[in-house]
Amino acid sequence: MFLSKEGTSLASPNGLRTIMEDIAQTLRNADAGTPDYVNLSIGNPAPIPEVVAFWSALTQDVTAESGSNKLGSYGASRGDDALLLQIARFFRTRLDWDIGPENIVVGPGSQFLCFAAGVLFSDCDHPVILPRLPDYTGYDALRVGRDSLRGLAPEIVSLGPRSFRYRMNESALETVDRAGLFVASSPSNPASDVLDRQALSLILQAADRTDATVLLDHAYGLPFPGIAHGDYRMKLEPRLLHCFSLSKAGLPGARLGFAIGDPDRIQALTAFVSNAVLHASRLSQDIATAALRDQGILALAADHISPHYRKAAEHAQRAAQACLPQSINWKTHAQDGGMFLWLWCDEPWCDDLDLYRMGKERGVFFTPGRYFFLGPGQVQPWMHQCLRISLNQPPETLEYGLTILAECMRVLRDGATASVQDPPMSHAADRGVQNA
Ligand code: PLP
Repeated sequence: MFLSKEGTSLASPNGLRTIMEDIAQTLRNADAGTPDYVNLSIGNPAPIPEVVAFWSALTQDVTAESGSNKLGSYGASRGDDALLLQIARFFRTRLDWDIGPENIVVGPGSQFLCFAAGVLFSDCDHPVILPRLPDYTGYDALRVGRDSLRGLAPEIVSLGPRSFRYRMNESALETVDRAGLFVASSPSNPASDVLDRQALSLILQAADRTDATVLLDHAYGLPFPGIAHGDYRMKLEPRLLHCFSLSKAGLPGARLGFAIGDPDRIQALTAFVSNAVLHASRLSQDIATAALRDQGILALAADHISPHYRKAAEHAQRAAQACLPQSINWKTHAQDGGMFLWLWCDEPWCDDLDLYRMGKERGVFFTPGRYFFLGPGQVQPWMHQCLRISLNQPPETLEYGLTILAECMRVLRDGATASVQDPPMSHAADRGVQNA
């Protein structure tokens, strides 16, 4: 089969996709009779009962009202007028943004809009820059050419024996002399940190210098799903595209996201939507319109989603203290929001793929952290010592998973100290994951 250069790059499995396929395959086998697994690697939103009930009622109303009518005809690529008007109204009243439909494009999910931005605004000479690693592995798909994505390794700030924070490396950012698109999620998947005003202003300066676009991905942030434990007001800026999604607010299957920015960039994204998919689902657009019209989505975020994840994050910190070995140097990233606990086992013997493999053998899945350090230039040992752990499971499930993780850590440490001449386990683990 002939595959283009770009096609080869897009069709080749990346590391995390291999892991996700391994998990899916293992779970399919488990359905066929082997033991239950605990999956702490998933990115699905937690099934919060009030959230499930809200979307289910709204979907029924909207389907009854406009289902066959909307599904029976094509719509506009930018998005249906009613939704564009509701989005403009929502952001005008909530954030004082002076925007109209010309500043908005709706698409089938924010993953798609990020991908479109990568194709439109970057190439090998104008790479995608991820200014603060680790960041969302889905951005790997923005790399159409081999050298067209560069991540900037962060600095590490210790916040105490069990807590740390990554900080954007400002000196590295200053050295960026070619860029087409800067991308960052905030709060980030996986580390959960929110991009502060100072960091965003440095990224915008770098974009000015290189004539690039900046895409800020609010998949977990304000105003919905609102899983950001702070009060950071986003602003409209030239060059800046804000990307929003309904997924983490409870509707990942609706495939609905939208971007807000200057009319030229939005027009380019609209043309891309038109070329690639014509438009986003009209039924999903009607559901979003209804959720924005009476601001029900805001109440949902404030009353249910945000408190749920704040509680889950606090519980995860306590559970880590209670379940993980005191004798091992593990730490968690400061939690500004998001849906994950990011854990760093700062020990020379630690390897994230070993922990993945050992967790799997014991029936628990964690996500190895290395895949979130995309295009880092030089790989540092600490990039292979982290795990992303989902906060979307019930507290007792998380505690069980962490108890298993504690066992894996002990076994790995004891194995490493008992037999220094053994070959490093990471190589065996790499093969194990590929073949599983
Ligand atoms: N951006 C980030 C940071 C994500 O974590 C995800 C999904 O996990 C997406 C985008 C994709 O979102 P959507 O479902 O809107 O395509």
